[in-house]
Amino acid sequence: MDAVFVDGKSRPGTSGARGQVVNPANDEVVAEYEYAGAEDVDAAVRAARSAYADWSTAAPVERSEALRALADRMQSRSEEYVAAETAQAGKPLRLSREFDVPGSIDNAAFFSGVARNLEGKASAEWDGEHTSIIRREPLGVVGSIAPWNYPLQMAMWKVLPAIAAGNTIVLKPAEITPTTTVMLAEDCMAAGIPAGVVNVVAGAGPVAGEALMSHPDVNMVSFTGSTAVGQRVMELATATLKRVHLELGGKAPFLVFDDADLDAAVQGAAAGALINTGQDCTAATRAYVQRPLYDSFVEAVSELFSQVVIGDPLDDSTDIGPLISRRQQDRVAGFVDRARADGATVRAGGHIPTGDLAKGAFYPATVITDAAQTSEIVQAEVFGPVLVVLPFDSDDEGIALANDTPYGLAASAWSTDVFRTLRAQREMQAGCVWINDHIPIVSEMPHGGYKQSGFGKDMSTYSLEEYTQIKHVSMDITGTARKEWHRTIFSEK
Ligand code: NAD
Repeated sequence: MDAVFVDGKSRPGTSGARGQVVNPANDEVVAEYEYAGAEDVDAAVRAARSAYADWSTAAPVERSEALRALADRMQSRSEEYVAAETAQAGKPLRLSREFDVPGSIDNAAFFSGVARNLEGKASAEWDGEHTSIIRREPLGVVGSIAPWNYPLQMAMWKVLPAIAAGNTIVLKPAEITPTTTVMLAEDCMAAGIPAGVVNVVAGAGPVAGEALMSHPDVNMVSFTGSTAVGQRVMELATATLKRVHLELGGKAPFLVFDDADLDAAVQGAAAGALINTGQDCTAATRAYVQRPLYDSFVEAVSELFSQVVIGDPLDDSTDIGPLISRRQQDRVAGFVDRARADGATVRAGGHIPTGDLAKGAFYPATVITDAAQTSEIVQAEVFGPVLVVLPFDSDDEGIALANDTPYGLAASAWSTDVFRTLRAQREMQAGCVWINDHIPIVSEMPHGGYKQSGFGKDMSTYSLEEYTQIKHVSMDITGTARKEWHRTIFSEK
């Protein structure tokens, strides 16, 4: 596979390093490719720069039609995308087919509409003597980096608002999941998006990623990934003061008040914690359950987690597939083992499976109780199918515990009392708060963090604001040589 796509053409990377894409369900190699290096990044930025003049001045309707054609093109290849996403990320087919791929196509259709809808303040003569116009303009070349958990969706979240607003882009997918991003770049060309508008440089984070984030001719960097790498991206962007957009880690609380519908909360906790094998930045990770419901919740959720079918992603009866890699499997197992050693109780799952499941990076749905609020398993992002359940007494305490991590990406509250839910949606410190559900997202609404989960919004018209800059144009309407305000400079004569 060639995973450098520059100026409309694909070719191998030139870093000298070679990598593999491995199916985590069976350790089979799906593809091999040459990693991009700094020279490839430089060529991609130059291609993006030269495509910028025409793309940024194209009529919005032209950009809109190209994005609509992209949505149609992807729709016609949707089963290929489903197969490729499942092969490189180990996602159950059901998830790729019903969530990743249709969500990505819907994003393209949505941004096709958004491309024709740049909003600004009304033009007016605010001081009576000048007409003010607000222009919302693109920034130039955007450098983006995406993670491996939703390879296609994360690529779409980066590419679509950037190019809808008239920017051009160089995107680095995660090195272990580049295949659907390369397909996307090809489909952009097939849809009539001009060469150089969308470029892809698949390669190692510290090499291609750092070269892109620090490139002097990149105007904005947009990064989705861990908080630690996000901090590095911000450092790299400092030298040339690039605009920075960061979508980082999460540790979403799941707050269950004592009047909640227990069955709904238990179902919601399983779905919210286990989607994408828990490798979701908004996944429910910390369930705080008010004391009267605590024991029943723990019992029911542990039972439900034990029933989850873990296995072959190609089998329709599979609920959760493997983790993304053996490395991630070790990482998740390490978190659970340390929690156990620290005195926590494992109520379901908690061990790397043996037997048939030893062929891939599988880890079972895991429930943990009796962990301290300050412990690693409660505070750090595990990024696996692991739910910690903790009790609380007063509403004040529950909300305080929910807010007590450095992260603030997403949260949910469960209650049948409208006033409790209203309080929770106001006081929970997160970029998205669900009430009586956890996970649903839509193209029309923004996604992005509070606190150390980053800043900037993906999806929705808000993301267009991220990828544009505002120009105020002020035009004299008096036609006079000596304006009123010149009195501040000249004497009255
Ligand atoms: P990661 O930070 O390790 O890697 C993300 C990307 O950064 C990859 O493409 C990687 O190659 C690149 N990278 C690594 N080191 C780099 C460096 N020094 N300079 C530049 N780029 C570098 O994260 P991951 O393990 O791929 O993904 C999981 C993380 O992503 C989790 O923390 C998750 O919460 C987060 N995430 C956040 C969102 C969100 O919207 N907030 C969405 C999905 C994933």
